[in-house]
Amino acid sequence: MDLKQYVTIVPDWPKEGIVFKDITTLMDNGQAYKYATDQIVKYAKEREIDLVVGPEARGFIIGCPVAYALEVGFAPVRKPGKLPRETIKVEYGLEYGKDALTIHKDAIKPGQRVLITDDLLATGGTIEATIKLVEELGGIVAGIAFLIELSYLEGRKKLEGYDVLTLMKY
Ligand code: 5GP
Repeated sequence: MDLKQYVTIVPDWPKEGIVFKDITTLMDNGQAYKYATDQIVKYAKEREIDLVVGPEARGFIIGCPVAYALEVGFAPVRKPGKLPRETIKVEYGLEYGKDALTIHKDAIKPGQRVLITDDLLATGGTIEATIKLVEELGGIVAGIAFLIELSYLEGRKKLEGYDVLTLMKY
C-alpha cells in the first residue's frame, strides 16, 4: 500500500516556512491506519518488545495500537506537569521551539526491551529526549518506529547505533 497518498501536506503550518505532514487523513482511513500499524507490529515482533513508549500526542496514536496487538504495555512520555506521579525529565530542542519531556519513574523496569514510536522524525530532538528517558530508567531501546522521516532534516544522525524503522520518507 502506498501510504503517502493518505498524508496531507499543509504548507506554512504551524508557521511560515514549515511544510507540515498531516497524518490525520491517514488515521481517518481504517485500512491505511491498520496497514501502517501492522508494519510496525511486524517489526516489533522481530525485536521481542516488552513495552511501547511514545511521546505525546502523536506517539500515542502510533504506539497504542501496536502495544495492543503485541499484548504489551504502553508508557506515555509527556510534557512537564501532565503526569501525576514521580517523574524524570529531559530537556530538548524542537524543529520549532524548545521543550522538555517527562516519564513516570516506575514506567520501565530495568532490562525491558522498549519500542519507541512517534508519527514523524524531523530533527530527532523529541526522540533523542525519549531515548534518554528510557535509558535513564534502565530500558533497552530495541527499536524505534515512525510513520514518516523528513530525510532532509537529518534526524537519523542523532539516532546512529539505534535500530530505526520509517514507513515513508520525504
Ligand atoms: P523533531 O523533534 O524530530 O524535530 O520533531 C518531531 C516531532 O515534532 C514529532 O513528535 C512530531 O509529531 C512533530 N512534528 C514536527 N513536524 C511535523 C510534521 O510535519 N508533521 C507531523 N505530523 N508532526 C510533526
